[in-house]
Amino acid sequence: MPALLTRVLDRLMLQGTATEAEPVAARVRRLRVEGPALAGLDPRPGQQVRVLVEGTLTRRTYSVWRYDPVGAVELCVLDHEGAGPGARWGRSVRTGDTVRFGRPEGSFVLRPDATHHVFVGDETASVAFGAMLAALPGSATVSGCLETRTPEDRLPLQHAERLDWTVRGTGSLADAIRGLNPPPGGAAYVAGEARTVQRVKQILVQEAGWDRRAVVTKPFWAPGKRGLE
Ligand SMILES: Cc1cc2nc3c(=O)[nH]c(=O)nc-3n(C[C@H](O)[C@H](O)[C@H](O)COP(=O)(O)OP(=O)(O)OC[C@H]3O[C@@H](n4cnc5c(N)ncnc54)[C@H](O)[C@@H]3O)c2cc1C
Repeated sequence: MPALLTRVLDRLMLQGTATEAEPVAARVRRLRVEGPALAGLDPRPGQQVRVLVEGTLTRRTYSVWRYDPVGAVELCVLDHEGAGPGARWGRSVRTGDTVRFGRPEGSFVLRPDATHHVFVGDETASVAFGAMLAALPGSATVSGCLETRTPEDRLPLQHAERLDWTVRGTGSLADAIRGLNPPPGGAAYVAGEARTVQRVKQILVQEAGWDRRAVVTKPFWAPGKRGLE
């Protein structure tokens, strides 16, 4: 990359060095990025960063899996079947590589004061859920439905035993949330494939009696679309 462009990117974006890159589930790689610029960012649990994944223009969004205030951001990237630039990047990062991204952002975040917390989503959503669940005390009331392609795609989440896990093709998240029928009054977090997110919100609001403002949603990807954000 030309030196001038590097200097411009350094001014516009945060940067660090990949210090760890390893599988955390069958198709998911955990990338740890460290650097002085990453100290004191203070992301809220569930927030994301926009990462430069290819050249200088292509960015993809990834939830912060873990954050260390001394200056380390961890991301988890799914190697999905669509194999776009984000998935290719996630697969190819090596320790020592420079990684550039924007500051943590987004309103898909934990509502810590909710009486109970319901999580619904897929492999990609599990990353944000991991940060949110890790921020909850052990006494928190947690439930939810998570769907992955295989059991090996499940991320190691805190309170995982309180969540209902299903394998794609053996049912749907819509049916799973109907079966769970969580009582209204808490906070629900729904993310992943766009149409499923919409459908699950509809069920929570129209069938389970949830206030729509208590259902926090975020479409993370959609079939045939490229980089939703
Ligand atoms: C707020 C937010 C947070 C996100 N957090 C994460 C995260 O923590 N980890 C993560 O891996 N992704 C996350 N994503 C999704 C991520 O930003 C990319 O969309 C994803 O990596 C796909 O990018 P791509 O360049 O590989 O494919 P694209 O070029 O964007 O898409 C190519 C095609 O691949 C298919 N495709 C895309 N995603 C999937 C999928 N998950 N499963 C099956 N097929 C797919 C679609 O058909 C699409 O048309 C997040 C998205 C948002 C908006």
